[in-house]
Amino acid sequence: MLYLDNAATTMIHPSVLSSMMPYLTELYGNPSSKYYALATDSNNAINISRNNVARLIGCKSEEIIFTSGATESNNFVIKGMVSSLKDKGNHLITSKIEHPSVLEVFKYLENNGFKVTYLDVDSTGIISIDDFKEAINENTIFTSIQWANNEIGSINPIVDIAKICYEKNLFFHSDATQVIGKLKFNLADIPGLKAISISAHKFFGPKGVGALYLQKDTYGFFPPITPLLHGGGHEYGLRSGTLAVHNIVGMGKACEICNDLLDENILKLKELELYLKEILKGKFEDNIKFNITHSDKLPGILSIQFIGLNNEILVKRLSSIIALSTGSACSSSKPSYVLSSIGLNLDEIRQTIRVSLSPYTNKQDLDIFKEL
Ligand code: PMP
Repeated sequence: MLYLDNAATTMIHPSVLSSMMPYLTELYGNPSSKYYALATDSNNAINISRNNVARLIGCKSEEIIFTSGATESNNFVIKGMVSSLKDKGNHLITSKIEHPSVLEVFKYLENNGFKVTYLDVDSTGIISIDDFKEAINENTIFTSIQWANNEIGSINPIVDIAKICYEKNLFFHSDATQVIGKLKFNLADIPGLKAISISAHKFFGPKGVGALYLQKDTYGFFPPITPLLHGGGHEYGLRSGTLAVHNIVGMGKACEICNDLLDENILKLKELELYLKEILKGKFEDNIKFNITHSDKLPGILSIQFIGLNNEILVKRLSSIIALSTGSACSSSKPSYVLSSIGLNLDEIRQTIRVSLSPYTNKQDLDIFKEL
């Protein structure tokens, strides 16, 4: 079967799996225990992974807090920062097309007395910098704008947003879950971006592990943040719970591979996308439409309308030969609010499918679309 739902999750890279196996078998020590080798070996493995994550995104290793994934990282940073900044104001800014693990947190905060501005996006899925500037007022304490969208692959002007936030001393978090392995960036060059969320299973790591990058100040202190999980004080006292060593080791390995192959993989994704688009255009001619056509998007994510076909039926019919999605795996039963936000009507939404490629997709396998 041809797997083309890599924005939902990816396979575990074989080297990632091999790196994890010892920590699921003989190396089972608790990294927080002391003195004996089984514990210190686990702790060393965690440190290596922390360095690998930091190297990939361009931050200090002490700024990486391991979590169970991007859902937790998003919940942690939004609730945790807002709770510690609430005496300074009650206004928050996000966008209308965030992942539910961001949007639902903002809705929760709204129900608890905060005021939230949900910024519109244009037909290409990005927020307007002017709208963003206008939304900021003297009560604004926190903003979260996704780096790239999981359904359509649109990329927000993160550097510009970060610059504004830096000047205004406004805390800026971005959900970077979809950009790892698909975009090249260095957080050291974006000082206004104070936090990002990532999830290992989106870039060939295991499920159930991720990280929050949280920028330290020049004195080496984290910003005031209320932990989501209180307990034994793991992860600098900010995220308690015994570390899932095997998962963290796997994430570190996935970051190392990603780092080594980043340029090559981005090129491969672009090539595969071009190849698939040509096949689809040749085969379906005027009966397909790409929802995002400009080139400044994530490579490998295509949102495509098959005119006159129902997406659920299409995805189900093809399910034994190709794994596709009607949109996000997290909200596929309802018509997509992301597609609606970029201006698509219900008919257009119902005929849209998402194809998400991987650099490990075999080009020739895409020829299957010629036979449909
Ligand atoms: N944000 C985005 C943009 C995502 O695509 C996802 C995964 N669909 C998440 C957050 C949540 O990640 P996880 O399910 O690994 O916690």
